[in-house]
Amino acid sequence: IPEYAFIGRSNVGKSSLINMLTSRKSLAKTSGRPGKTQLINHFIINKSWYLVDLPGYGYAKVSKSAKKTFQKFITQYFRMREQMVSAFVLVDIRHKPQPIDLDFMQWLGENGIPFSIIFTKADKLKPKAIDNHVEIYKNIMLETWEEFPNYFITSSSKDIGKEEVLAYIDSLNNNMQLE
Ligand code: GDP
Repeated sequence: IPEYAFIGRSNVGKSSLINMLTSRKSLAKTSGRPGKTQLINHFIINKSWYLVDLPGYGYAKVSKSAKKTFQKFITQYFRMREQMVSAFVLVDIRHKPQPIDLDFMQWLGENGIPFSIIFTKADKLKPKAIDNHVEIYKNIMLETWEEFPNYFITSSSKDIGKEEVLAYIDSLNNNMQLE
């Protein structure tokens, strides 16, 4: 079964997004305590693919050794990712590109791991500001990348972007069946 990994900084809105995509209100725990969720959760969707919920990265308050453990954990997941079709890196649309996110995407690229970007919390910005922030991402990433990754604008509180993300995953699944 193909799987798709969802990852981002803690508090980026990952649990809320997963709940939106799976149409459930209280499935993924919304995180009260950063750094607590260390397990990988798998959600089966439509009996046809797995949504893989990876722990958030970039906690300010976590020790160096905890960060190392986390890195090893994530690296291992992607190394063994036989069924992993694509990752989705979540970033908060309100923030300027953060080194930790850019570094992580760089790492995915260098390791040949396909990914899309999901901009979260789009309800918090006006459309113009959204375009502007995406543009800033593009400018920065195109300094080192040949093309800007596929991306989605989402809001879990306003139910925005759900169909686009799900349709994209379906299209990837269908392509695989044709191969
Ligand atoms: P996680 O730590 O990445 O799993 O993030 P959560 O899903 O727990 O969300 C972190 C905080 O952001 C919570 O207070 C959510 O209510 C809020 N949040 C998440 N998604 C959205 C969104 O689309 N819009 C708004 N306005 N707030 C959101």
